[in-house]
Amino acid sequence: MSQNLAEIAKQRGIRYFMISYTDLFGAQRAKLVPAAAIAEMQRDGAGFAGFATWLDMTPAHPDLFGVPDPSSFIQLPWRKDVAWVPADCVMEDKPVLQAPRVVLKNLVAEAAKQGLRIKTGVEAEFFLIDADGGVISDAKDNATKPCYDQQALMRRYDIISEICDYMLEMGWQPYQNDHEDANGQFEMNWAFDDALVTADRHSFFKFMVRSVAEKHGLRATFMPKPFPALTGSGCHVHVSVWDQAGTTNRFHDDADEMGLSKQGYGFLGGIMKHAEAIAAITNPTVNSYKRINAPRTVSGATWSPNTVTWTGNNRTHMVRVPGKGRFELRLPDGAANPYLLQAVLIAVGLEGIASKADPGKRYDIDMYQLGHTVTNAPKLPLNLLDALRAFDKDESLKAALGNEFSSSYVKMKLQEWNSYTSHFTQWERDATLDI
Ligand code: ADP
Ligand code: MG
Ligand code: MG
Ligand code: MG
Ligand code: MG
Repeated sequence: MSQNLAEIAKQRGIRYFMISYTDLFGAQRAKLVPAAAIAEMQRDGAGFAGFATWLDMTPAHPDLFGVPDPSSFIQLPWRKDVAWVPADCVMEDKPVLQAPRVVLKNLVAEAAKQGLRIKTGVEAEFFLIDADGGVISDAKDNATKPCYDQQALMRRYDIISEICDYMLEMGWQPYQNDHEDANGQFEMNWAFDDALVTADRHSFFKFMVRSVAEKHGLRATFMPKPFPALTGSGCHVHVSVWDQAGTTNRFHDDADEMGLSKQGYGFLGGIMKHAEAIAAITNPTVNSYKRINAPRTVSGATWSPNTVTWTGNNRTHMVRVPGKGRFELRLPDGAANPYLLQAVLIAVGLEGIASKADPGKRYDIDMYQLGHTVTNAPKLPLNLLDALRAFDKDESLKAALGNEFSSSYVKMKLQEWNSYTSHFTQWERDATLDI
C-alpha cells in the first residue's frame, strides 16, 4: 500500500483524516484534516498545544506536532470518507519522550536490537450502559451468573455484530464475541500481532466500540469497576516473543512441562519481579484498585488477581499459562493506556530475559479459596498511591521506559491522586459524623 496519504485519499475516497495521538492518561486527541491539506500535515504534523492535554507540558511550551504514521492508517468502516491515523508526537523536530506511542516504539526498537519481536493479544472488556452513564442499558440483563448469557448477548446482536463485521473488514481476524461475567459486560476477541499493531488496534477498538454504542443511543465504558457488586472490566494481555522474522516462537519449548522456554520464564520472571510497580501503568486509575483485591462479586468470583502469583491453566492468579509458548497477564484493566500497557510489558520482559529472572514458585491452587496459604507472595498494591510509589522506587523500570516519561507520568498521576483525596465522600460523613 502506498504510504502517501494524499494518494490514499484519492484512491479510497477519503475526505478527512483524523490525526490522533494518545496522551499519558490514555485520552485520544485528534485533529480532523481535509484531504486537500494532508500532504503538508504528513510531512510536518498537525499542531497541538501540549498543555491542553495530559502530557506534562506548560502553556509556554512550543507547538506539539502529531506526525501521522501512514503504515497504521485505518479507514473508518462506519464512515468511509474518514480515516484514523495514529500520530507520533514531535516538538522542535525531536520526539516527545513522554508521549506513549513514542515510549512504545522505543521499546519495540530495543527488542528488535536484541533480535526479538513481542507479539501480544488484548481482551478489552467493556460495559454497554445507558447514554448518561448511570445504569446497565438492558434492564433484562440481570442474571446472577450472566457469563455467556445467550439471550442477553443476542439482545445486543446489532451492536456486537456491527463491531465484529468491522473487525472482519479491517482484517483483524476476530474469532469470538461473548457476554462476560457482569451484567451488561461484553468481550470481543481478535488475533494477536506485533505489540505496536496491537496497541494501535486496541486504541482504535475503544474508539470504535464507543462510536458504535453512541450510534445506537447507548454508551460503552471500559472503566475498571463501574458497578461495585459486579465483576470489573479487565484487559488481559497474552504475550509471546518471536524471532525477527516472526516465524519462530522463542517462548515455545516442548521439552518443558508448561511448554515454556528459558526465555519465556525469564520474561515472566521480569513481570513477577516488577509486578507492584507495573500496576501503576496496568491499573492506572483510582477506580482500578476496586477491581483487583476486590471482595467476591455477585457472580461468585472477581476473576481478577490480588497477589503476585503465577500458574498453569487456572484463572485465579495474576499470570496464567493457558498453553504452550505464551502466557496471560490478568492484572491490567480497561483503563490501561494501550501504548503504555505494551511498553511496560516489553520493558520488564526484556530485563527479565537479560537477567534470566526467576518467576518463582508456581502455585496450582485456587487462589480465591486458598490464597491465605500462600504467605510469601507479595500482595498487589491496594490503591493507586501505593502503585505509584512502587513505580517511583523502581529505578530500572523507570530507566527502561525512559526517565523523561517516568518522571512526567509519576508527576501527573500524583496530581490526579491528590485531586481524588481532596474530594469529600459520603463514606467519610457516615463513618465520622458521630465520632
Ligand atoms: P481467554 O479468555 O481464554 O484468556 P481469549 O481467547 O479471550 O482468551 O484471548 C486470547 C488472546 O490471546 C487473543 O487476542 C489471542 O489472539 C491471543 N493469543 C493467542 N496465542 C497467542 C500467542 N502465542 N501470543 C500472543 N497472544 C496470543
Ligand atoms: Mg487555535
Ligand atoms: Mg477472553
Ligand atoms: Mg474476559
Ligand atoms: Mg483472559
